[in-house]
Amino acid sequence: MRPVDKGAAPKKIYNKYQDAQRDLIERLGAYCSYCELPIQNAPEVEHKEAKAKGGEVLQWEIFLLSCKYCNTRKNDKVAAGEKEKYFWPDEDNTMKLFDYTGGQVVLNDKFLDSSSNETREKAEALLQLLHLDNIPTPKQRDRRYEERLGAWFMAQKYRKDWDLHETSVDLSKFSDCIGDIAKLAGFFTLWIQVFCDCPQVCQAIVDKFPGTRSEFLKEYLPDNK
Ligand SMILES: [Zn+2]
Repeated sequence: MRPVDKGAAPKKIYNKYQDAQRDLIERLGAYCSYCELPIQNAPEVEHKEAKAKGGEVLQWEIFLLSCKYCNTRKNDKVAAGEKEKYFWPDEDNTMKLFDYTGGQVVLNDKFLDSSSNETREKAEALLQLLHLDNIPTPKQRDRRYEERLGAWFMAQKYRKDWDLHETSVDLSKFSDCIGDIAKLAGFFTLWIQVFCDCPQVCQAIVDKFPGTRSEFLKEYLPDNK
């Protein structure tokens, strides 16, 4: 899950929370803050703590962007004061929590096995809260898995191309091109996972996604890079 920095609250008063949508898109890009799906039409302004359960309604700090699938699943499950049970992409380093191999989302055991029990519990709670690992039945309208699978195959294709041509092309142009494709396809962290041993490509991808907390990238990359 891409760790993001929304920046300081814009110097304006929102009359309704939906008015924050434009500022959030400008700061973070039009992606779901949770599943990282690119959102073509209308990303929803999401409240980390449910407004129906006592959460703040108009406070910048509580906002993220969400696709309708994540927002529907999360619903009003997080009441005011319950935020600490979970990790949040605008507060925590969420880069390593999940593994996106094969377009699926599972807990990243490689990281979590060497983390505290509390870290694992909060990662697990976040996964369950959003049903990020849902593989929809034909009757479900959840498009997250299908879109992520498409991004996975695309990232694999470009990874193969990178390995084939690494020594024979202009690497900065090629990296930039992969960054552009990732930006269109969405699912930032999946791309970073696929190119984790290619720092130049990772940096190009980071540069295309506004609001990414790039300081966390370094620890994601293998030690020797
Ligand atoms: Zn989502």
